Amino acid sequence: MIRITVLLLLASAASCRGTATPHSADATADAHPATLNVHVVCHSHDDAGWLKTVAGVQYTLDTVVQALTANPARKFVYGEMGFFMRWWAQQDEDTRALVTQLVEDGQLEFVNGGYVQHDEATAHYVAMVDQTTLGHTFLHKTFGAVPRIGWQIDPFGHSATQAGLLSAYAGFDALFFGRADYQDMAHRKNRSALEMVWQGSGSLADASIFTGNFISGNYGPPEGFAFEWADPPIMDDPRLDEFNVHERVDAFVEQCQRMAASTRGPDIMLTIGSDFQFANAHLQYKNLDKLIRAVNSDGRVNAFYSTPEAYVRAKHAYKESWPLKQDDFFPYADFPHAFWTGYFTSRPASKGFIRSPTTEALEEAVSLLQHHDAITGTEKQHVACDYHRRLHRGLKYAQAVVTSALEALIRGQDRPGRGTGGVAADSITVDSSAGSDAYAAASQRLLQEQPNPIDAPITLEICDWLNITACNTTVRLSSAGKGFMVAAYNPLGWSREVPLRVPVSSGTACAWAVTGPENEAVTAQLLPASPSTHDLQQLLAGVNATCPTTFGDAEVAFVARLPPLGYSTFFVQPASGACARRGSIQSNAKDASLQTDVDNAVDKEQYVSLDNGIARLEFDTHTGLLHSLTLQDTKVQLSMHLAWYNSSDGLETQENRGQASGAYIFRPNGLYNVSREGSGEGWWGMLLRRLGIGSNRGDPIVQLDIVRGDVVLEARQVFANWATLVTRLYKGQSQVEMEWTVGPIPFADGLGKEVVVVYTSDVDSKDEFWTDANDYRPSWELNVTEPVAGNYYPVTAAMYVQDAGKQLTVLTDRSQGGASLQSGQMEVMLHRRTLADDARGVGEPLNETACGCLACDCPGLVARGRHWLVLAPREEAAKPRRTLQQELNDPPLLAFSAIPREVGSSGADGGRIGLRRTFSISEGHILHSNVHLLTLKDTGSSYLVRLAHLYQVCALRAGASQHVLKAACGTPRSRQLCVSAVTQEGEDSILSRPTTENLNAVLQLLHYQEVREMSLTGNQLHADMQRDRLRFDASNDLTTSWLHDASVSHASNGKGGDSGRSGSGRGIARQAVGRPQQRQLLLDDSAELARLRAGAQIIDCHGGCAVDELLVTLKPMEALATMPRPDLVARHIHPSNPNDQETQKAIDVLAQALSHDDVTLYLCRPGLAESFMRAMIISYLLSGPSPILLAADDFSCCALMGEVGMHDCRESRAEGAAAEEAVQALLASNRTEAYTLLKEQPELQRLVQQHGTGSVLCIHFIAAHPQRQGQGLGSQLLQHICKMADQRRHHLYLEASSAKSQALYARHGFQHVCDKPLGGENEAAPVLHVMVRPSEASH
Ligand SMILES: [Zn+2]
Repeated sequence: MIRITVLLLLASAASCRGTATPHSADATADAHPATLNVHVVCHSHDDAGWLKTVAGVQYTLDTVVQALTANPARKFVYGEMGFFMRWWAQQDEDTRALVTQLVEDGQLEFVNGGYVQHDEATAHYVAMVDQTTLGHTFLHKTFGAVPRIGWQIDPFGHSATQAGLLSAYAGFDALFFGRADYQDMAHRKNRSALEMVWQGSGSLADASIFTGNFISGNYGPPEGFAFEWADPPIMDDPRLDEFNVHERVDAFVEQCQRMAASTRGPDIMLTIGSDFQFANAHLQYKNLDKLIRAVNSDGRVNAFYSTPEAYVRAKHAYKESWPLKQDDFFPYADFPHAFWTGYFTSRPASKGFIRSPTTEALEEAVSLLQHHDAITGTEKQHVACDYHRRLHRGLKYAQAVVTSALEALIRGQDRPGRGTGGVAADSITVDSSAGSDAYAAASQRLLQEQPNPIDAPITLEICDWLNITACNTTVRLSSAGKGFMVAAYNPLGWSREVPLRVPVSSGTACAWAVTGPENEAVTAQLLPASPSTHDLQQLLAGVNATCPTTFGDAEVAFVARLPPLGYSTFFVQPASGACARRGSIQSNAKDASLQTDVDNAVDKEQYVSLDNGIARLEFDTHTGLLHSLTLQDTKVQLSMHLAWYNSSDGLETQENRGQASGAYIFRPNGLYNVSREGSGEGWWGMLLRRLGIGSNRGDPIVQLDIVRGDVVLEARQVFANWATLVTRLYKGQSQVEMEWTVGPIPFADGLGKEVVVVYTSDVDSKDEFWTDANDYRPSWELNVTEPVAGNYYPVTAAMYVQDAGKQLTVLTDRSQGGASLQSGQMEVMLHRRTLADDARGVGEPLNETACGCLACDCPGLVARGRHWLVLAPREEAAKPRRTLQQELNDPPLLAFSAIPREVGSSGADGGRIGLRRTFSISEGHILHSNVHLLTLKDTGSSYLVRLAHLYQVCALRAGASQHVLKAACGTPRSRQLCVSAVTQEGEDSILSRPTTENLNAVLQLLHYQEVREMSLTGNQLHADMQRDRLRFDASNDLTTSWLHDASVSHASNGKGGDSGRSGSGRGIARQAVGRPQQRQLLLDDSAELARLRAGAQIIDCHGGCAVDELLVTLKPMEALATMPRPDLVARHIHPSNPNDQETQKAIDVLAQALSHDDVTLYLCRPGLAESFMRAMIISYLLSGPSPILLAADDFSCCALMGEVGMHDCRESRAEGAAAEEAVQALLASNRTEAYTLLKEQPELQRLVQQHGTGSVLCIHFIAAHPQRQGQGLGSQLLQHICKMADQRRHHLYLEASSAKSQALYARHGFQHVCDKPLGGENEAAPVLHVMVRPSEASH
């Protein structure tokens, strides 16, 4: 087929403003210019989970709908679509109609509009975008509603990602939240700076959003006005004793005036509502009705029901400048010793689980888990279990979908409608002949537990427990001495080499051979499972008796090369007589647990090294600790060890110190190394600690085992029987993989523990480190009252330290908390187990067990995860970090089956020929390494594609003052870095440049018809969003004076290391452990790297690009969401009656489109062109013997044709009123001659004479809707017509009105016959080009 490439239309401001956001009546109508306008905003904050699971919110929505209906002045805003969607599904048609009306009338307004109110610290940005998209799609489909307000009222700190990506680029006008650091809020209150313009990206000026921080630091009602929480009702009847309206009005006005003093301008917003409020909406609204009436008759303030949208429009109308905010709101403390930094790590296993590959079926479960009480790990245990059940259910379903798709592809079946080669499904069967008896005997016991997995043709299994060497398919087959197939799917748009580890039973073979998709041999290594893996297997089997998993005692490791957006298959089979290649193990332990294979030579040398030819690790055999890492010419002294903070139990007696560490809050009380002795177990450990002996006594001695082989080199370190690290170097890979296993965290000593891994290097990073998620805060003076907890920041994917020469990066496979408390050091919190509640509402200690029960007789939960360490020269560090970060975040999906073969084939490799052993959706096209495909999703009517440019350029904004630069780029030191980055065009001199990607190459297996650039959540055209968003000015001057007001400095007793920093002067006391706030700027990293901006261009290639190219230019840090639509579907309309609705629609499209045509304009006066065309079309419809009216399913393009007979349409053209009008027009224009000429069609008549009546289809008119022209629609419809003509063996006839359309028709097989000049001698008159397309039969 001809693929249509299309220009993305960036609608101009003059075009139709058609996105239907139901706006309420302009609230300024309620506002009073001379007084304080109080916008009363009613809402309910419904946590999806936390204390309750998601079933209990229906009453709020039920009663709110009733209350709104009772009084049209009342308004309500709602944000949690997860609840709303469920409630909506249960409503009858009447209620739905009622709600739709409330939305249209502006009484019910949706804010945020995501499935949940996501957390901003621990949620990955892609998950945030996806969960917001889920809710936005529902709102758009259901109500045509496009949310305009970000409403993150409860999350515990706020990221710049939320401001830039999830607000500005989601099309919001403003963002509101409740919680910010108590010191920050006090500072802002004093300056009336609680409302600001938040510039969410250091590089991009258009990522800014008007932002309001509620004065209460929360989102509840003003004090005394929580009617649902038993505050006194408003009693306005003077005859009653309880009459209280005057004092209530005074209290209300007083609070309003206090709030007004902290904000700017004559409008304030009062939130009425809180957690699960408005379950009794009648009570709330009845009191509010009275209160508003009384307040307004008092007259000091003007109160009215409003919405955040109306409030923001009122603020926008000031045309004022607002304070500028450029960093973020992390970490959040609500009290000097209450830093909410524990939740960055709480429930690490859940945080890892959430990062599972998402598919359609998983979408809701994964979205639910992005909630600020889910991914944060701050929910109650039974809610956590509910989340896990949902996720697991979703995961199983998703796996079934994925495996059946992979199975079909591997069998060679194609997607429906794409008939290419490959063998049919029934020609594939499995190996059931050779050795089947042996298999049956060997696995008889296993077979009793579960049916033989190889009894079906290619049944793929996805194994959930690969990280503890468990998988039914591979372990069972290998234990029977049989091979198996591994299908590895790569979700990235780049090809990659990825190390894979597959569980096996080592009982039958001591070596395994791996064959790749081209029948090439792939180097493989068999390595034994580590002791900690065995422990985990036993633990799992012990707590889960019905666990269906089969544990392996070894793994086959190999490096797989995978195509972009596709899979390759590998065959793993026992190798005969190759046992010499078995990996060797060395240990520094006298009593090594792996007695066989142990070579005690390790402790004879001081250092033992692992070297894969790219990187080299040296371990100190005496301490068992890592000593150094070398990558080519770059070397760092590097150690890593495990340590734990004692969780405060909140029982201390000192003033202000009664805060416990818990699910939210990290409150450490001393740091201890994890070691086999004195690791905190029992009274002996406690005594040692009391005596100061157990704490920080120098390097711990750890057991070190070294495993070597052709694929992977491993150092296994045992710090304690509950805490191990395995460090790996893979063949051909530059990153160091560190697998941590922590748990069950012992607590027999009665101490809560928070376990960290500490990387200590000689990188001279001073007091700076960098994380991907969030930002350094130069805009206010932080007094760090908790030197450790207050220096913890969310690490969603990466953190690094650097000096002039090198950069050392830690990439994480899940969200964790991280800090750098000394120069060159990075610590990451891995796991937490606290024995006290931190009194923030969850009411439970964070005490996870392997059984999912709280305070039960079950071992503590063990968590296992991975870090990748990346060392690189400073100047070249961006590329490995960016690339590997994506690779760690998007691991390949592995699925396993028995080795299939074709029937009748007997060769060793026979039978695999028919399999499609490798496949790429992009047919091998590889995206540029700075471009990442975020999303490729079939939404039913279209595909949603998101592309992101991964690299940062730290651009100066026009007019930015020096301090703005500082704010954007950090301290003076990093300003240098930033300036040099600008001259180098970003963090990488080449990859930070704009790049152009051929979208067609990625989408070549999708049939599509047009591409539209969308907002990031896909609910509106990007151009509409750009046009409609409210922009607020930010004033640098204002901000500067605000920033530098010395009277509010919290700097106190110290000499921190910051004295040399002008304008910063963060003189903060150095604490016993830890240092002043020291983190560094936001790297525009993963959490905000995806962005959508006005500069994105989709270039139309009709003009000159190579065929089949749809080029998309991405600028650094830019994400582009586009929506290609599938092929046009044409429908036949039976035009029996021109007044029929569909016929009328088609006539409209044609008349409007053709009224701009040169020929039309020549034939009649411009003002009459449309009615003239309408008359022409109707006359053809009425006069032809068999008119055919065709339209695209959305009427974007239409055509009118007719089988040509020898009729004369002049008789009938005057029929109908419209035709009458046209005739008048024709007469008036005095060009009847031309009209007649047009009608006579001599060439057509000749054609009919040649071939006979009924042999020619004449395309009278074909046109695309005026707003859809240039998108290739005409060509699509023409294709349809040609096919139809070929089927009917019709010749096609038409008259092209321009050279451009003539070229188009020529591409579809039309041949030029002759020209018909319309103006005789007049050379300026248009010419019709007569064209004929012979039927295929006569070709
Ligand atoms: Zn909440």
